[in-house]
Amino acid sequence: MGFDLIALKPKSEEYRRFINNVWGWRPLWAFVTKVCSDLLTEEQINGGHINDGVLINEELALGIARRLKKIIESGFAEHQAGSFQDRKDKVGMITCNACDGTLIHKYTGEPCMICRGTGKVKPMVTAYHFSIENLKEFVKFCENSGGFEIW
Ligand SMILES: [Zn+2]
Repeated sequence: MGFDLIALKPKSEEYRRFINNVWGWRPLWAFVTKVCSDLLTEEQINGGHINDGVLINEELALGIARRLKKIIESGFAEHQAGSFQDRKDKVGMITCNACDGTLIHKYTGEPCMICRGTGKVKPMVTAYHFSIENLKEFVKFCENSGGFEIW
């Protein structure tokens, strides 16, 4: 599952789409909606988490880009990315769901490759990632999209 942001009036071919998988997009949008909560409506905030084509018009896209640039310059975004990683690092291991910790895969009866014979895995939530690079790409997209829809 992923999210496709479709530009309304892209300034060039490069900015026709902004694509993130769910693991990258959800933390990004959560961050954007936190720091731009006064710019976005409730519908837009919620709409960004589901693939229903919520509209962000050009004026708003530019407003989001301006806000995010300031926040990147201030160092706050980097700080957030760091603490996001810290929280992930601190999440404990859980029992492997594929073998229930028996090391034998429940369905195949073979040695479990999901946990690689340890019986433990990182919980799914640790698959989410938040990076400054992705945030900067998103800013460029906002500036050059002419507005967009989130699908
Ligand atoms: Zn396992």
